[in-house]
Amino acid sequence: MTNKRDYYDVLGVSSNANDYELKANYRKLALKYHPDRNPNDKNAEEKFKEASEAYDVLRDPHKRNIYDQFGHQGLEGSGFSGFSGFEDIFSSFGGIFEDFFGFSSGQRSRSRAQRGADLRYDLRLSFMEGAFGTETEIDLEKMEVCPSCEGSTCEPGTHPETCRQCSGTGQVSRSQGFFTVRTTCHLCRGGGQTIPQPCSRCKGAGQIMVNKKAAVKIPAGVDTGSRLRLSGEGEAGTYGGPPGDLYVFIHVDSHDFFERNNTDVICQTEISFVQAALGDTITVPTLNSERTLEIPRSTQPGDLFRFRGEGIPSLRSKKRGDQIVQIVIKTPTNLTKKQEALLREFAKIESGKLSNKLKNIFKSSDARVSK
Ligand SMILES: [Zn+2]
Ligand SMILES: [Zn+2]
Repeated sequence: MTNKRDYYDVLGVSSNANDYELKANYRKLALKYHPDRNPNDKNAEEKFKEASEAYDVLRDPHKRNIYDQFGHQGLEGSGFSGFSGFEDIFSSFGGIFEDFFGFSSGQRSRSRAQRGADLRYDLRLSFMEGAFGTETEIDLEKMEVCPSCEGSTCEPGTHPETCRQCSGTGQVSRSQGFFTVRTTCHLCRGGGQTIPQPCSRCKGAGQIMVNKKAAVKIPAGVDTGSRLRLSGEGEAGTYGGPPGDLYVFIHVDSHDFFERNNTDVICQTEISFVQAALGDTITVPTLNSERTLEIPRSTQPGDLFRFRGEGIPSLRSKKRGDQIVQIVIKTPTNLTKKQEALLREFAKIESGKLSNKLKNIFKSSDARVSK
């Protein structure tokens, strides 16, 4: 007499369960008791073997028929002895485990599960959005898991069937003389299953093209060439594989007044030659508002002044760079008569100073020559 439990009870299904229910419940048990997840656990090992044996019998119409009519003894009478060990289970169920776990169990080839493709989106930002960050929504066209069949590729209400050609192993054996050659099953392409009625929405692809919005948070300090990765926002994976990533490539527009040099901003400010000569206090726009700048006497064209911490935040440290103000000196135009007269007077004095200077130069070179 056998003390084995009822196979339907083992899998937790009713006696009229279809292929899909059998597989779904076996999958749950196999995931729970898989030896890779329960090393050296005798109890898990027994459960795993028991569930595998039950599934092996019930997925096979011939064995299931014998079991339904004659029970465990009927199967023993027809030569079925269950599995001898893990190797035996893995070699019979290889293709099925790949579907279950997304990786190969035992000596089987690699998984069919594939990660979805990465996507690229080019995002244009204003200078200020780049400097201070922003939140935006972008429109994407991408492949998503089909909502109708949830990626199963089967018309809702129908289920994949165990491949008739290979009984779900994904491989077929052929005898050639003394040798047995195993090849990938052509009917199911190695997947172990066939689809009797493909999903009408996705035409059996398991994925459809959708338009989707994705919220993107742009950190302060991005610049042209910055790249953001939105993990999992790429295209859907196939056969349960993870989705790809979305890469947002940033392009920052230039600004009329500010120019960027890493975290520093550079601007040019015009002052008159009088302001440059005598000194003055002026107002300079900053990224946030404005600041006053003391122009010292004798400021020269191109002189640089620095506002510390008025630049752009660093992406990494969040510390802000500086604003550098470069002085441009305007030459006056449209002079009034009085201004012109004063300037001529000024020039006379200047040329006096200049010719004295030149005299001094000649004097010193004469001295050098006469030496
Ligand atoms: Zn579908
Ligand atoms: Zn097949």
